Amino acid sequence: MTTNSTVTMDTIVSLCKRRGFIFQSSEIYGGLGSTWDYGPLGVELKNNVKRAWWKAVVQKREDMVGIDAAILMHPQVWVASGHVAGFSDPLAECKSCNHRFRADHIEGNRCPDCGGELTEPKMFNLMAKTFLGPVEEEAAVVYLRPETAQGIFVNFENIQTTTRKKLPFGVAQVGKAFRNEITPGNFVFRTREFEQMEIEYFVKPGTDEEWHKRWLQDRFNWYPSLGMRAENLRLRQHGSDELAHYAKDCYDVEYLFPMGWSELEGIANRGDFDLRQHAQFSGKELNYFDDEANERYIPYVIEPSAGADRSTLAFLIDAYREEDVQSGGGQTEKRVVLKLHKDLAPIKAAVLPLSRNPQLVPTAKEVHSLLRENTDWMTQYDDAQSIGRRYRRQDEIGTLYCVTIDFDTINDRAVTIRDRDSMEQERVPIDELVAALKQKLG
Ligand code: ATP
Repeated sequence: MTTNSTVTMDTIVSLCKRRGFIFQSSEIYGGLGSTWDYGPLGVELKNNVKRAWWKAVVQKREDMVGIDAAILMHPQVWVASGHVAGFSDPLAECKSCNHRFRADHIEGNRCPDCGGELTEPKMFNLMAKTFLGPVEEEAAVVYLRPETAQGIFVNFENIQTTTRKKLPFGVAQVGKAFRNEITPGNFVFRTREFEQMEIEYFVKPGTDEEWHKRWLQDRFNWYPSLGMRAENLRLRQHGSDELAHYAKDCYDVEYLFPMGWSELEGIANRGDFDLRQHAQFSGKELNYFDDEANERYIPYVIEPSAGADRSTLAFLIDAYREEDVQSGGGQTEKRVVLKLHKDLAPIKAAVLPLSRNPQLVPTAKEVHSLLRENTDWMTQYDDAQSIGRRYRRQDEIGTLYCVTIDFDTINDRAVTIRDRDSMEQERVPIDELVAALKQKLG
């Protein structure tokens, strides 16, 4: 068996469309640039990514809680956070073809598309604005949040008083964010609407560097714990010229995407910047009373900030394999298989009668309902086309197990379980099927 693990973005985009992972938004109207909809399989995969993250950073820890704040916030939040004044990228426009670029993403001052001369870079604020209420006036302007983090900072006091958590503790949140990116692209890697998975971890000043190191390790290890290959991951420290306005120190977890190493997650030491700013702008005290040390202070914050869409894309790319396998007739054929981790695979098991023969279909349907009623997995039933093609189709969407009902099933009440990765088959009685699959899926 030979394995080809390199894949182009075009291959992933076309698989996603063909199989129902990700579609272009508003496609029947010609699409909306760089905006994407998750289809029936994509929503399962992305939900599984978010669920795995929540489990690792909230449910499995005793020092974390979650929230779900509104996308719309008081406009002063963004003044205090520094986004109104400073959340901008340098925009340069080509004087010949008028294409626009992020000046910090290109070398020199020539247009990468036509070689024309570029204008001097101008700072361009990335926040998306809208109006609330019936009158479109300046006073009604609100921003669509460009990050979920601020929803945590402004709730710091509420969370602390209701949970009575002692430092160090953290707050996790998953939700949509919006940025008017100058150059969105690379499929769901950079879009104007996206989903973040963010943690604000509050610590005693002076312990922040130690906690920063611990979070770097924890978050870096999370990706391989879900099957991502370690050789495709690296940690990169930001240079002082790259640091965001709030950051004391920052590292990126980078993945080797088809377009090269790019950020999956940023892990920053934000110091006490945010709580201090919000305390000043709101006039409220946002601090912590440390009863052991008998002192009051503003906690420092470590922020691991990941992208749900970017991680989903990286998991898809990393799982993609083209393998040469022996077909029944002794020829070699190509199979495409998504070797997604069992916790991420959208479909855990597919039930496939050998054919649409009326002797087989009722038992196959019975087996399918057995799985639906006794597990909380997404499953599929498929009886169209040859069994070989159906196996290929399930491989291509990463289904972990195919359960096949054949003519022997009618006599012995046993079915075949086919393993996606090894393609090995094993026969189990229908009565033991749920237990056998539960054991495999752990
Ligand atoms: P970049 O340098 O790529 O613009 P950033 O450093 O501004 O990203 P952060 O502000 O650190 O990004 O955001 C945290 C995470 O949110 C990123 O690591 C990424 O996974 C995700 N993210 C940020 N912007 C986008 C976007 N436009 N589309 C999809 N995901 C995004």
